[in-house]
Amino acid sequence: MAKSLNEQAHSGIHGLHAYVPGKPIDDLKRELGLTSIIKLASNENPFGVAPAVKQAFAQFVGNGAHDLHRYPDGGGYALKQKIAARHDIEAERVTLGNGSNDVLELTARVFLGPGKNAVFSQYAFAVYPIVARAVNAETRMVPALGAGADMPYGHDLDAFLDHIDEDTGVVFIASPNNPTGTWLAPQAIEAFLDAVPPGVVVVLDEAYLEYQADSERPDSRQWLERYPNLIVTRTFSKIYGMAGLRVGYALTSTEVADWINRIRQPFNVNTVALYCAEAALTDEDFVTYSTQTNAVQRASLAGELEARGLICLPSQANFITFDCGRASTPLYQAMLHEGVIVRPLESYEMPEHLRVTVGSEEDNRVFLAALDAVLERE
Ligand SMILES: *Cc1c(COP(=O)(O)O)cnc(C)c1O
Repeated sequence: MAKSLNEQAHSGIHGLHAYVPGKPIDDLKRELGLTSIIKLASNENPFGVAPAVKQAFAQFVGNGAHDLHRYPDGGGYALKQKIAARHDIEAERVTLGNGSNDVLELTARVFLGPGKNAVFSQYAFAVYPIVARAVNAETRMVPALGAGADMPYGHDLDAFLDHIDEDTGVVFIASPNNPTGTWLAPQAIEAFLDAVPPGVVVVLDEAYLEYQADSERPDSRQWLERYPNLIVTRTFSKIYGMAGLRVGYALTSTEVADWINRIRQPFNVNTVALYCAEAALTDEDFVTYSTQTNAVQRASLAGELEARGLICLPSQANFITFDCGRASTPLYQAMLHEGVIVRPLESYEMPEHLRVTVGSEEDNRVFLAALDAVLERE
């Protein structure tokens, strides 16, 4: 008897559900016939694309986009040089990805597989279990800190150590973490790196690092010299407003970069994205504006939510996750009818929380008005 497709799909992914992204604006327009919609569901930069990127993009098009019939530079030479200079690291220790998610997946493909396990926190980024199970590795979810902890719902690094064994290939930690916004103290990360066996890869996902206060932000660059098993990931998606272009990167030891490059698709980052990311790195003004505005608006938004009796998780990111004290998916759905898209966290097993991206002052006003309208109708 021939096997069914169901049997052919490997056992690691049988229990997996497709990642549910934030609802696209066009979907909501189509479904509800709304014209004015704000999306605060995917932690995108509310100020759009960095001006230097827009300019580079226009320049690229203005030049007739003449090189698009050629393959991209598979080695990403020019961009890697600039990233390397910024972090004072050898260019060969920079690995580019089609978004940092690509780097997460490459890491799993190198260091995980059947018989191995990946360790990550409860309420951590949904992509970690996806990439681990895609290669048929076991996933070990470490219970998060409790709701009453100093860092509610945060990573419990001590508990991580109890979940690591000789079959552990990769540990994923995110600081700040999505969907919670919680973060880890630099000393805690360093102590953890000291305690983890040297053959276990530790991914430190720093997608939201730029949004952290200077006093909270770790200098992970120095750890890369001491821990050849450390992979630091960064992205252009959030702070540079380049989510649609897809560029991220890893900083690692030479050895890890070599392993990843052996399986990396040669042209994983496209020509336009490479070109625009180079320009992004010159736009310090936009980074400063985005981070400062985010900090002000985040504090203001948290204050407004708390004033409504909604408890916010501490956040050092560009979003706030808050406890609605009731099932949050109906609230999310009711807000869609108000033209506001936020993120329900049922899929993260936080059925009473919503995650809202910190928007511009005006976005946040519209969000709060929609929330009030919905809460009033309850
Ligand atoms: C948004 C996000 C990323 C970035 O993903 P890209 O593929 O670079 O767009 C990575 N990690 C976390 C935790 C995120 O929330």
